Formats: sequence, structure tokens, C-alpha cells
Amino acid sequence: MVIIVMRPTATAAQIGEVLRRIEAEGLHAHLSRGEERTIIGVIGDDPPKSKQRWEALEGVEKVMPVTQPFKLASREFKAEKTLIEIGNVIIGGDEVVVMAGPCSVESYEQMLATAQVVKAAGATVLRGGAFKPRTSPYDFQGLGKEGLEILAAVRAATGLLIVTEVMSPEQVELVARYADILQVGARNMQNYALLHALGEAQKPVLLKRGISGMIKELLMCAEYILSHGNYQVMLCERGIRTYETATRNTFDLNAIPVLQHLSHLPVVADPSHGVGKWEYVGAVTRGALAAGADGLIIEVHPDPSNAWSDGQQSLTPEDFAQLMGQCRRIAEAIGRCIAPALPSLSQELPPSNGRAGDYQT
Ligand code: PEP
Ligand code: MN
Repeated sequence: MVIIVMRPTATAAQIGEVLRRIEAEGLHAHLSRGEERTIIGVIGDDPPKSKQRWEALEGVEKVMPVTQPFKLASREFKAEKTLIEIGNVIIGGDEVVVMAGPCSVESYEQMLATAQVVKAAGATVLRGGAFKPRTSPYDFQGLGKEGLEILAAVRAATGLLIVTEVMSPEQVELVARYADILQVGARNMQNYALLHALGEAQKPVLLKRGISGMIKELLMCAEYILSHGNYQVMLCERGIRTYETATRNTFDLNAIPVLQHLSHLPVVADPSHGVGKWEYVGAVTRGALAAGADGLIIEVHPDPSNAWSDGQQSLTPEDFAQLMGQCRRIAEAIGRCIAPALPSLSQELPPSNGRAGDYQT
């Protein structure tokens, strides 16, 4: 792949002509419009051959090879951070976005109660799995479509955005109908058929790092999604397997600055799975935020000891609220802030709009 850097003064017609020439040669163009200039990635090209050919076109400033194996995900291709806009929430900017909620969707009442407390504490996105990739086939596998309907009802009742997992290419269309962010679980990081399908979806994707996934592999998996046309990808550090058994996984703090350096994609930290024990979730959250995470995804349950999954790493609403207070102060110290809470429902939706009252469990 090479990148064609257009001059700041390049006209729309000149950019259009470059794109036309790329397609005419049977190559693929990926456009990145920065504040100052437009950059065009040419996939399938041979860098030494293409240099003079593209440089001769009008409006082109220079042509450079992308040396990283992940091309579209790299900072070489796009120097500015990617901002993912969902409603009035922006992920990847100065505001750190907090996603919180239980591991699994259990009931409407459980989701609504959790949503209200995490929203009051500063979360803008509600998490909850309807399709659960459990280690044991005998464990609770999620409520499936019913879980998605509960999420949609709670979204309507609270205004929170929804992030939930999708496990197979066949599920993408269904889950995308209900969710604002499609989560790829750690166990599916290298499910290439799923990544391909998500590349053709129109929704932002939260891509979790595989349990033994290297940073480079995570970026190559993001590249699968980007190369199929979906540029709205967040990278999620959720802990990796090491020889250490004191914690469920080892949260790789290093991954946060490394990913920020190598890629323009927003980086989200999942301290809950990263450490696996609620006692340590606060410390790892604070560290991840200080290290530069653009988002946090944290498991919170109204009654952790009775949670259907991951209760041992779920925070109580009280502990979560206290942690958010600390996070606000850390964010301020590093020149950021926690994304402001969404407006309360009464200002946002007319009462008849909420499906909360209609939902029958
Ligand atoms: C989850 O988010 O509940 C989950 C299963 O995460 P992971 O894929 O990171 O294990
Ligand atoms: Mn979980």
C-alpha cells in the first residue's frame, strides 16, 4: 500500500481524478479527509512502481509507502485521531467516554436499575451481553433476542447508548438493529468471517484484544474491519493471559500508549476483565485513564453476588459512583474530562416514547 498525500490546495476535481485513476487500474482507494489535507490509501499497489505515476497527477504533494503491516489502522495513513460520533457522544476526543453495566442482560428490571445508577454516576453508554461467549457450554449463554429487546427498552427509557456483543456473522444484522456499538469479544478477535461482516456494517465496533492476542494482531484484526469499509473501530485492551494466576488476566497497561502511538483509532480500557476481581478494578481503571484511554468499559451490577456472570469482578453502584468521582479528578489532571452525563430523560424523550412501560418480561 502507498498513501497519496494531496496538497492542502487540491481541488475536489483533482481528488476525484486521482480516485478515478486508482479504480481504473483495478486498485482500491481509501479516503481520509483531515482538517488540512486529504490522504488517499491505495491498496494492492506496488510501492516502488507507483511513486512517480501518482506523483505526476495534479494536486498530489507526495507519495509514501506505509511500512506497517496494518495500513488503514496506522498513524502513517492517518495522523489525526479518529473520532467516532454516536448521537452527541464523541469517542476519541478530549472527553473520556464511560461504558458501564452488567456482564449479562438478566431482566428488564436489572438493566433499568443498573442503567439509572451508571447514568447518574457519569456513564453515557450501557453495556450488557445478550449473546454470551462462555468458557463452559453449561453456563448461562445469554438471553439472546430477548436480551436485545430489553436493551432497546432501557435505551428508550434512559437515553443511554448500548454496547453489546455479536458472536457470528449471521448475528450482525440482528444485533446492529438494537445496538449503537457492536462488541467483538476477546474469544472472537480473530473470527475473520465476523470481522468481514462487521466491515460491511454501518455501526461502530468495539474490538477486544484476544486472550493471547499480540498488539500487532489486534491491529491486523482492526484492519480487516477497516479494509471492508467500516472505519468506526475502537480498540479494547481487556487483559491478556500470562503465567500469573493471582488475577484472572493481566491488564496490559503498556498497550494503551503503544496503541495510541501506532494507530489513530480510539482506545478503550476494560479493567473488569483485565483484572477479574472487583477489589482491584478501581486501581486498574485509574491507571488506564491516566495512561491515556479514550474510553472505559466497566462491569457494574446492582447485586454482584447474585449476578448470572462475572459477579466477582462487578462493582456495586456505590463503588462505581465513587470511582467515577476519582476518574473526574484524574481526567482533569491530564487535560481531559469524563464525557458529560446525557440529559435526563424528561428533557430528551416525551414520556410516550419510552418503551419501558410496554416491555413485558
Ligand atoms: C464481556 O464483555 O462480558 C466479555 C465476555 O468480555 P471478553 O470478550 O473481553 O472476555
Ligand atoms: Mn463479562
